[in-house]
Amino acid sequence: MIETDILVVGAGPVGLAAAIALRRRASGEKPRVVVLDKGRSPGSHVLSGAIVDPSGFKGLLTDEEVAKLPCEAKVVKESFRCNMTRGFSVKIPWVPQLMSSKDFPVVSLTKVTAYLAQIAQKEGAEVYTGYAVTELVEKDGRIVGARTGEKGLDKNGAKKSNYLASEEIRAKVTVLAEGGCGILTDKLIAEKKLQGVRPPTYAIAIKELIEVPSGTQTAGEVMHTFGWPADFNTYGGGFVYHVSETQVMVGYAYALDYARAEIDPFRLFRRFKSSSAVAPHIKGGKSVAYGAKVIPEGGFYSVPTPYVPGCLIVGDGAGLVDSLRIKGVHIAFQSAQAAAAAILGELAGSGEAGPKYFELLKSTTGWKEMERVRNVRASFS
Ligand SMILES: Cc1cc2nc3c(=O)[nH]c(=O)nc-3n(C[C@H](O)[C@H](O)[C@H](O)COP(=O)(O)OP(=O)(O)OC[C@H]3O[C@@H](n4cnc5c(N)ncnc54)[C@H](O)[C@@H]3O)c2cc1C
Repeated sequence: MIETDILVVGAGPVGLAAAIALRRRASGEKPRVVVLDKGRSPGSHVLSGAIVDPSGFKGLLTDEEVAKLPCEAKVVKESFRCNMTRGFSVKIPWVPQLMSSKDFPVVSLTKVTAYLAQIAQKEGAEVYTGYAVTELVEKDGRIVGARTGEKGLDKNGAKKSNYLASEEIRAKVTVLAEGGCGILTDKLIAEKKLQGVRPPTYAIAIKELIEVPSGTQTAGEVMHTFGWPADFNTYGGGFVYHVSETQVMVGYAYALDYARAEIDPFRLFRRFKSSSAVAPHIKGGKSVAYGAKVIPEGGFYSVPTPYVPGCLIVGDGAGLVDSLRIKGVHIAFQSAQAAAAAILGELAGSGEAGPKYFELLKSTTGWKEMERVRNVRASFS
């Protein structure tokens, strides 16, 4: 059994931000912080290509670290289109203020996560990859740690030569930073009845990185779309981000509450790419990477009570995404800082971290932003 002060499950943007904040903000003796991720390396399970609202860096990274952030481009030109069909779309003459990302960094989230892991390790946090955490450990109504899964079993469950037994990690506080639909998080929310006003809802987002011939595109140009090829009853939208002069990130998100069984989100994504609004951005291009991931897009009313004694839920796991802009990284960073402050308070003897964390979270600009767009999803329905 391993013992630590804080166990963070997930080395995505929020888990690493929590580790950095915990080590940096501690006065006196620094707590031991162990971060575990099931991916091969930090960022390997993160879907890349994002526009990050820089408000999230405040208080977390120094100006020098922000300047060194692996940033591919800054948003220089943006547009918003709706009422699309394959050959037609309406370009809104202005970008709605709540959607604007002017001057925000366009990043590879995988690279940013790897960069955060370096900072966390430099601060003394221990980041271990290749370990899936499969179970929370509870004692007398308090989460006291977690257990990793066994490794090195063959398809019949027999031990191979590289077998590694499950390991229990005892922690004073466990931070769940698993992202959307996390296995431990979802189980905890269900078992402890933490669900918010409304149940969480998710979209499946498919992203593809396309290498285009040089001289054809402008780095930092971004386009967002609403609707098509989603039908009128389903929430959907897409984006095109020019990550560099020769790399374009195309994505399409489609709400998973769609009603028609024959819908194929991947086919919708292909249709989206072939539309007259998107095709010119990727003309002559070659696909170099792609992936899909869920986005918790239920918004403000779907945020659960993000704690139980001994355990806090941060980032996408707590549904902390602006469901209008589909941006979660900056709110994740703010939740990480709120969690760190509350945990350090608990370790210093000033009471349970959970309620304090929720209180601090509610005072962040990210929370207020989610509150401002709280009716977006419901009004669509
Ligand atoms: C297509 C798409 C486009 C997006 N675009 C933007 C954008 O432009 N701007 C923006 O701000 N946001 C964007 N987002 C949202 C953003 O990606 C998330 O808000 C952000 O990644 C949340 O970070 P997180 O650390 O909470 O979760 P994640 O990034 O999901 O990281 C979770 C980590 O936990 C690990 N993990 C999970 N379960 C376990 C377990 N049991 N044991 C061990 N490890 C575990 C995973 O391997 C992963 O590394 C987008 C999302 C998608 C899907």
